[in-house]
Amino acid sequence: MLCPAIYPPDPTLGITDPQMLPSPKVVRRSRNYPHRPCPECGRSCPRERVRTRTLHDLGDPLGGRPRDIHLTYSQHHCARCRHSFNADMSDLAAPKARYTHRVAALAVRLVVEDGLPYQAASWHLWRDDRVFVPFATIQNWVEAGGKKGGRPNRDRLPRLGPRRLLGIHRR
Ligand SMILES: [Zn+2]
Repeated sequence: MLCPAIYPPDPTLGITDPQMLPSPKVVRRSRNYPHRPCPECGRSCPRERVRTRTLHDLGDPLGGRPRDIHLTYSQHHCARCRHSFNADMSDLAAPKARYTHRVAALAVRLVVEDGLPYQAASWHLWRDDRVFVPFATIQNWVEAGGKKGGRPNRDRLPRLGPRRLLGIHRR
């Protein structure tokens, strides 16, 4: 087990050129089907086209590399309701999101439960989970959750967890 005294320095510390950062490990996932039921009327609808999107997931802390999900999904058209819809991929990410649910959930937890400022949470996500999330994005997630604002978390007793021991301090 790592103790704070021998916690190794982050090898990416001081890197200013993004091309020097480790390249992501790409994982392929598919939500590509010939038919899907229409969410409105339930009728089985044929595939109209195939699309792709990239989702940033929690990375590999041991290998030090980020992890991207290349998701292939089908788009379907319902002739009765006259609308198009995507195959369900809500288990992975919110619609139009660039990050998986796992990333957003962890980021919100770091701020709401552990009381980290947004910038420290962003750095924590990169350092420990190799996912780069701008702090403004984390702020959007937290505010969308409606959990921060009314009653500041800073009033709560901080949890003396490993993060504090490892030197991430509040501003
Ligand atoms: Zn329909």
